[in-house]
Amino acid sequence: MNVHEYQAKELLAKFGVGIPAGIAALTVEEAVAAAKQLPGPLYVVKAQIHAGGRGKGKFKELPADAKGGVRLAKSIEEVEAFAKEMLGNTLVTVQTGEAGKQVNRLYVTDGVDIAKEYYLSMVVDRATSRVAMIVSTEGGMDIEEVAHSTPEKIATITIDPAEGFMPHHGRAVGYALQLTGDLNKQAGKIAEQLYNAFVALDCDMLEINPLVETKDGNLLVLDTKMSFDSNSLYRHPDVVALRDETEEDPAEIEASKYDLAYIKLDGNIGCMVNGAGLAMATMDIIKLNGEFPANFLDVGGGATTEKVTAAFKIILRDPAVKGILVNIFGGIMKCDIIAEGIVAAAKEVNLSVPLVVRLEGTNVQLGKDILANSGLPIVPANDLGDAAKKIVAEVRAVA
Ligand code: ADP
Ligand code: MG
Repeated sequence: MNVHEYQAKELLAKFGVGIPAGIAALTVEEAVAAAKQLPGPLYVVKAQIHAGGRGKGKFKELPADAKGGVRLAKSIEEVEAFAKEMLGNTLVTVQTGEAGKQVNRLYVTDGVDIAKEYYLSMVVDRATSRVAMIVSTEGGMDIEEVAHSTPEKIATITIDPAEGFMPHHGRAVGYALQLTGDLNKQAGKIAEQLYNAFVALDCDMLEINPLVETKDGNLLVLDTKMSFDSNSLYRHPDVVALRDETEEDPAEIEASKYDLAYIKLDGNIGCMVNGAGLAMATMDIIKLNGEFPANFLDVGGGATTEKVTAAFKIILRDPAVKGILVNIFGGIMKCDIIAEGIVAAAKEVNLSVPLVVRLEGTNVQLGKDILANSGLPIVPANDLGDAAKKIVAEVRAVA
């Protein structure tokens, strides 16, 4: 789960992290009122969307030479003008895709006199089972380019969660950022505060870009992206309350209601599978046969009729889907029960695309008989390879 920049900053402030003052706004009037509460005379009006690259982004509705989603305002009147330009319009950035995202919230914040921009992020590194803190002296809007052409300017410091954040980690951050004296101390402190927040909030990603040195010698967090491990949300109701469903894929929201693990992908073959491992293998074998999966969908252990019906509906919402491959292993759930669920669901949703079903496991013959006698044009498959070949052939025949 992701949150907006202003929400992430409010969370970080509780851990002592230095952030510029700022207030969120949903309307132009609120943006003006927010600016009036700030000291001025410099304000920054920032589009709040769940995507980065806003500064260099473009609004679809504004002329091509107009500025992006982070605007420096020198007066309250400018704050008002920028808020009018941004609210309700669609911001396209390198991270939103071509469709862009509608801006429904703004963050009006103190303009900071920046001496230098740094980069600091944290992720859970599965390879080392540790938290990796990634830092660079080259923060700002071109960090992707830095990573690409001068990777030596990016340092990684790993923190063993059993040991926790130690003073030497702080010194390593200060050293990597080439800071001395008081700024070096501040870097160690802010790194520790960020690490504490990351662990306490069960983040899976935290990115500060830029972390800035101000002209008066302070380190401040100017931009934040934060995402949370969804398996931990049950213990963070305060974080769940920050969820903005308008930023999420409607199909993924629907799937979460039925406890289905669904991720939309770019291909044309809808997949319904039980078990994440089998789902991955199914996607691989579709690719091996020359087509692409339209989604990842794990219906889980109890593939009930209700769940299977919901899954069919979610897959069929995607207009790119030209065929569906169901690949289910009947272990805890017997194949005949699953087959009945598939038949009932296929009838209910008026299946409009070819459907290939591969069942394996307990009562498999019974299950296959139910599918064969259903009167539906279900194509049976015997194994994973056979299933992939058949659905690819079906989809290509339609195209
Ligand atoms: P994004 O990464 O989505 O483009 P940022 O919040 O990083 O958005 O803003 C882009 C750039 O705008 C920053 O690198 C920084 O130079 C400038 N900026 C952002 N917030 C402020 C601020 N409060 N004061 C001054 N400059 C800012
Ligand atoms: Mg940024």
